[in-house]
Amino acid sequence: MATQTLDRTTTDATREIISYDPATGAEVGRAPIASAAEVARAVARAREAQAAWGALSFRARGRVVLRARELVLAELEEIAKLIAREAGKPVAEAIAMELVPTLDLMQFFARRTQRLLRPEKIDIGQYGLMGRSSRIVYRPLGVVGIISPWNFPWAIPVGEVVMALMAGNGVVLKPSELTPLVGLEIADVFKRAGVPEGLFSVVTGDGATGAALVEASVDKIMFTGSVATGKRVGVAAAERLMPCVLELGGKDPMLVLEDADVEAAARAAVWGAFANSGQACASVERCYVHERIAPGFSARVVELTQQLKQDAGTHAGADIGAMSSERQLQIVAAHVEDAVAHGARVLTGGQRTAGALAKGWFYEPTVLANVNHAMTIMREETFGPVLPLMTFKTEDEAIRLANDSIFGLTASVWTRDTGRGKALAEQIEAGTVMVNEVLYTHGIAQTPWGGMKQSGLGRTHGRAGLLELVAAQHIHVNRITLLPDLWWFNYTARAAALFRGLARRFTTGSVWPTSLLLPQMLRRWRERR
Ligand code: NDP
Repeated sequence: MATQTLDRTTTDATREIISYDPATGAEVGRAPIASAAEVARAVARAREAQAAWGALSFRARGRVVLRARELVLAELEEIAKLIAREAGKPVAEAIAMELVPTLDLMQFFARRTQRLLRPEKIDIGQYGLMGRSSRIVYRPLGVVGIISPWNFPWAIPVGEVVMALMAGNGVVLKPSELTPLVGLEIADVFKRAGVPEGLFSVVTGDGATGAALVEASVDKIMFTGSVATGKRVGVAAAERLMPCVLELGGKDPMLVLEDADVEAAARAAVWGAFANSGQACASVERCYVHERIAPGFSARVVELTQQLKQDAGTHAGADIGAMSSERQLQIVAAHVEDAVAHGARVLTGGQRTAGALAKGWFYEPTVLANVNHAMTIMREETFGPVLPLMTFKTEDEAIRLANDSIFGLTASVWTRDTGRGKALAEQIEAGTVMVNEVLYTHGIAQTPWGGMKQSGLGRTHGRAGLLELVAAQHIHVNRITLLPDLWWFNYTARAAALFRGLARRFTTGSVWPTSLLLPQMLRRWRERR
């Protein structure tokens, strides 16, 4: 198992990554480490193939995506098992949280991209009366580079690949070095579905391969990962004046108000904190409970947590699998140790899982009480199966605590009064705020996903996400070419007087004041004939 540390998954001698099952330490397979030259070649191939692909109709592109969807559906079990083996999560969860959302996303963008990207007429006010019109048309960007993390090795990249392809782009994807085989599986599915040769490639490798993709001449980078790497990618992209979307970390708060359905909220907290072993950017990382219901809520949370079955993801009935890597497990252990050293109380869990699972990277699902915002566990992303509970007295205090973070990805408010929930939601600094729900909206293809503050820049999914993958082009047409524009040369005294009139009247945006300028306009036109 010791061989699974990040340093040792790659061997320079063979230039390949060895992928291990984090639950057992068994080798799952190997993948090549693409060099910078290979990455550049993949980008060049995608660019060459993109011209023809971008010229296809949406329907033709959609047919390829729907064929890929059929393959995914036919091979659901095998794909879920591969995800479970490489990422450590239960097979059932791989199906629920990775495959179901992507199957839905594939049908949605295959069928709806044309409508979502249809050209738009812009109301240009009084310029319209002068025989002009404006439209926005959406063009493919060219080649999109996608860099994705290990925690949802299928759902995150597949969603972005589908959207980028439907928008008419070529794509080069760099999956995490912890999950390269899932990345190669994605490439294989799309290849068999009939994506043109070279249009979409997967370059496996480590951080250097990701950096090479940013340096290659792609037209945009869609990056999902940590804040630290996201900043490096952002700086490298800025050096090239290349746009990028950064989907980064979270420290997502859950607010349980005194009128919440305690049973529903407790179940949601347990799923939201422990699904995927807590390794989701939108995991519940901080839970604030009104002091009046806190005793009952925390007792129920502990009870539900202790009922969870932790096991290798490939074993039937497992609720919580292994963590992805030793490094991630060490971060979680360090956060819990720090919290306990500063007075936190462990209500359940609190250590690496012993017994038969000790050979894998398992950490017990953990509930903490007596935490405060001076502790690392309430400030930094833990990204593990830990649920810290804190109480509050008033709504204002709850909002202040929720917003006391450098992150702003998602949040949730729990109350039986949805009007109150929506009002509070609008006061929370997060890209998505759910009322009586947690974690799952990344799975809704129609809704935008992205963070505020250091949780990132830009959006993925929904129309907002699709617009990140196209260039909006403004087409402006003048249908009246008989007369030169009033503002063209020469700037005679009469012209200057008219311009002053335009400043006073035309810029009101109303037709009536502008019409008072008609005599002056006529004189100006006559002057120029
Ligand atoms: P990392 O930032 O470590 O890695 C993300 C990706 O970037 C990986 O493919 C990685 O490759 C690659 N990479 C590493 N160094 C560079 C570099 N210098 N230039 C370009 N690419 C590079 O994140 P993790 O994989 O550890 O993922 C966990 C993080 O992702 C958490 O913070 C989580 O919150 C965040 N996340 C955010 C989501 C969102 O939608 N906002 C969704 C899911 C996760 P390699 O792995 O080979 O090093």
